[in-house]
Amino acid sequence: MKKIIWKIEPLGLPLVLRHCKKCGKTSEFSCSGQFRVNAQRKYLDIWLIYKCAKCDTTWNAAVYSRVSPQALNANLLEGFYSNEEGLARQYAMDFQFLKGNGADVLRPSCSVLGDIPASGEVSEVEIQSEYPFPVKVSTLVRDKLCLSQKDYLERVTEGKIRSSAGQDLRKCRLKNGMVLIFQ
Ligand SMILES: [Zn+2]
Repeated sequence: MKKIIWKIEPLGLPLVLRHCKKCGKTSEFSCSGQFRVNAQRKYLDIWLIYKCAKCDTTWNAAVYSRVSPQALNANLLEGFYSNEEGLARQYAMDFQFLKGNGADVLRPSCSVLGDIPASGEVSEVEIQSEYPFPVKVSTLVRDKLCLSQKDYLERVTEGKIRSSAGQDLRKCRLKNGMVLIFQ
């Protein structure tokens, strides 16, 4: 069986939808890549800062509220102070974190890197994604193979595309390390 790896790469960071006071309506906010750390007495408040795409009004997504500096790993704390790119990305990609802050999150488009399984040959495709996107597997596979919804469903029904763990490929969402079998 041929083994293939698909790497899911997001194109950009997710935008979030929030009400913007200045615009007076729901706006798209994008991640600034900057953290704000406020020290108050013995505690820290840490936010990741978003900006309204239209007017630059900021919205702060709470990362930590009233946390003791000793409770945080020194490297992590330094990452917040220095706006470390990877750290900001990690939070900006975390849908649970953003939803917990009351934002609606727009999924970024992503590209699927890796070979296309040859037809008439059985291939095992492992999907790797550094970030847990709530994206449907059907969307990824259809984009990669340029399949219509109808063609995709036909192949799934016929067992020509299936999940090694028996997940329902009509509706299941991306999980890092999941394996699909194509034939
Ligand atoms: Zn605005």
